[in-house]
Amino acid sequence: MNLSRLFPATIRSKLVALSFCFLIIVVLLVFLLVYSRQGLLLQKQWADSLHAQARLLATNSQSAVAFEDVREGRRLLASLESNPAIVAARIRLQGRTWAQYQRHPESPASFMEGVAATRFLDDYLQVSEPLTLALESSPVAQIELLASLEQYHQTMRDTRQETLALLLIAFVLGLWLTRRIVRELTAPLERLSRLIGRVSINAGLSERVSINTRDEFADLGRGFNHMLDHLQARDQELARYRENLEQLVEQRTAALQQAMAEVRAASQAKSDFLAHMSHEIRTPMNAIIGLSRMVLEAGLAPRQRQHVEQVLQASDVLLAIINDILDYAKIESGHLQLEQVPFRLPPMLATLEGIFAAVSREKGLQLRLQCGADVPEVLVGDPLRLQQILINLIGNGLKFTESGQVSLNIRLMGDAQASPVELLFAVQDTGIGIPVEQQGRLFSPFAQADSSITRRFGGTGLGLAICRQLAELMGGRIWLESSIGQGSTFFFTALFDQGAALALPPVEELRQRPAACWHGERVLLVEDVPLNRTVAIAILERLGLRVDVAGNGCEALECLQRAGQDPYRLVLMDLQMPEMDGLTATRILRADPRWNNLPVIAMTAHGGDADRQQSREAGMNEHLVKPIMENELYAVLLRWLSPTSALVTTLGVLGVPAPLTAFAGWPPLPGIDLQRGLALHMGSPVLLQRDLLAFRDEFAGFAQKLREAVQLQAWVQARRMAHSMRSVAGGLGAQVLQERAGELESLLVSGTLEGLEVALDAFGTALQQVLTGLAGLPDEGPVAEDDTPLPVLLDRLSLLLAQADARSSETQVILQQRLQSRMDPTITALLASMTLAIDDVEYEQALDQLHSLRALLGVEEQ
Ligand code: ADP
Repeated sequence: MNLSRLFPATIRSKLVALSFCFLIIVVLLVFLLVYSRQGLLLQKQWADSLHAQARLLATNSQSAVAFEDVREGRRLLASLESNPAIVAARIRLQGRTWAQYQRHPESPASFMEGVAATRFLDDYLQVSEPLTLALESSPVAQIELLASLEQYHQTMRDTRQETLALLLIAFVLGLWLTRRIVRELTAPLERLSRLIGRVSINAGLSERVSINTRDEFADLGRGFNHMLDHLQARDQELARYRENLEQLVEQRTAALQQAMAEVRAASQAKSDFLAHMSHEIRTPMNAIIGLSRMVLEAGLAPRQRQHVEQVLQASDVLLAIINDILDYAKIESGHLQLEQVPFRLPPMLATLEGIFAAVSREKGLQLRLQCGADVPEVLVGDPLRLQQILINLIGNGLKFTESGQVSLNIRLMGDAQASPVELLFAVQDTGIGIPVEQQGRLFSPFAQADSSITRRFGGTGLGLAICRQLAELMGGRIWLESSIGQGSTFFFTALFDQGAALALPPVEELRQRPAACWHGERVLLVEDVPLNRTVAIAILERLGLRVDVAGNGCEALECLQRAGQDPYRLVLMDLQMPEMDGLTATRILRADPRWNNLPVIAMTAHGGDADRQQSREAGMNEHLVKPIMENELYAVLLRWLSPTSALVTTLGVLGVPAPLTAFAGWPPLPGIDLQRGLALHMGSPVLLQRDLLAFRDEFAGFAQKLREAVQLQAWVQARRMAHSMRSVAGGLGAQVLQERAGELESLLVSGTLEGLEVALDAFGTALQQVLTGLAGLPDEGPVAEDDTPLPVLLDRLSLLLAQADARSSETQVILQQRLQSRMDPTITALLASMTLAIDDVEYEQALDQLHSLRALLGVEEQ
């Protein structure tokens, strides 16, 4: 049995309970002792007194017995009446009752026979005394008395009550005393316990136990106080340490923050420096490459040619590395702004295929580029930056794969209707693979799997870091899965808005196919740095233009004044120049009505929005960022200079069908300047017709969509739509439509709602006019009318390829259509790889393939 369950919890109550039990036992014992002793004592008194009476009676009765005087005997017995306790008495003589007395004769009390001396019965006490006569030795009679014990019982009852009352008082007193003593005893313990409780809850160590006894509790209290002293001292010491530590941490944190701020500032300064240096570095590089190309064209001795070609190759590599570093720095410093323009994936895949066709062929690798059928057709985003990621990943795949294949798969993630949509790109190779422990750091800048890779394959280790940054800028992420010897798959996701079905700006096409168009036209180049001049002049002259040069704004104004009868058709104006800068010169010339409409194109190393705004405000028509790229300059010229009739002549000379005859069978197309459209399509009716048909199909509901965007107040979208339409219409020669779209765009840019409705109506009418005309445009290309005999077509292509003329691609299209009906897989494959080679500007390779084609077709060269 567990006693602690039985007893209350505290020591005090345990002690009280214990004393209670103890008191009860003592009281009971005392009671029993006192009561029984009292009983015995009283019995003895009673017996003694009764015996005394009996003896007295025996003495007095001697003579009555001796003389056998019964009457005397009875009288003597009757004298006992004075003792109220005696209820009966008798004298026994020779075994029989000689005389007797009964107090209550009506209910006589009866004696017990054979009682020797004293006998206590239930209610009576019987005593017997011998009666011995004088001179006799043995008793002759017995005196027997019977006394009622009622008085005795009464006395015993009284005794019991008194004793119990006394003991009860003693018990209560004892209990009270015990409680007091226990309380006194346990008080220090309780004080200690309460203090311990407080210390453990509040952890306050300043309190102490008061000690006012001299027992073991006092020792305990002293020990406890002593312990608290120690704890408090240690606590204070700890607090001091902590304070010191906090101060130390604060100091260190401040130092660290300062150091980090410095590092950040340094890094920002570095990134800013690199980002700003970009143009300063690219300009001389461009000069090196441009000039080397020119030297190559000049006709050189074989050794010199070899050397210059090596210079070119080395420059290409250097430019690629510099581009990587500058790109990385630009993104790091937050200077890179992604474009938001509509584009399609399939043409991009074709371009990628073109870029990598030669490498994959050389290494005997299969290259498969696939786009899921559910991927939206027109995306809005930055196609060049997307292409940059893909070039990097596919390039790596080809670089690190010796056999097997490299593939690109594009899949839609989630809902096709959502905008933005999320696309998943996976570039998989069957190459060397990447060890797990190195996978994690590949996306950090300058990381390569290991140093042997650098020795074997070269590279800067920046490609993947740039890919990661670009993917993140596009709202996605990049990761990889790879196992050694099996190959690697690089995944990345990116978000794109969905665009209205927009035609690619024709400039995209034109970029890839520059052709000379402006024979004899005069332009003015205002540029103070001779190096920059040389390259620009070379490009312009190659396009057939006559170029005059001015070294600053003042000289430029003088040139314009002097031009007289042979005016300049366009001015290319550097912005920063000594004496007079480009902005001032432009403001001055714009103030003169003679040059009000003269196209002035800014050339500057700064492509920021603020710079563009500034040059626009000064009256410049467009903004070219240096270094000047040939295709960009070409696109700008196309926009601002109508090509000359020399175009027709040139085409005629080359034997391409004269453009005017090419329109035979076409309905009148109101709102479209066919000559201009043709010029913008390098004189190719095939390309023009293709774009016109695409425009007809894709822009049918455009006016309505634009109006909806305006009604929904989706200003950014509306502005973009108007802008796209302006450039698309311009590229087709639909000038009125271009102007209406331009007006709409300016209204949307300036945020003026006034006149918006009118502008929308005018735009709608212009678009409708163009679309109505285009409805009658035959779906078949003009090829149907092209009855040039096959041998002539092949010769023409040979000639164009030999001259590295970009228009070979148009003739290739015609040839491909002509041979399509033959359904010969070898011919189809050969034509396809020729297209790739031509797109790749690998004209010599295409020429080789053309020889094979001739052999297959059995058409001899003429
Ligand atoms: P680099 O310019 O050196 O190629 P990247 O950032 O593109 O820089 O790649 C970094 C490193 O990642 C490479 O040097 C190579 O070790 C590893 N790597 C990248 N792509 C692959 C791949 N497809 N297969 C194997 N290793 C790869």
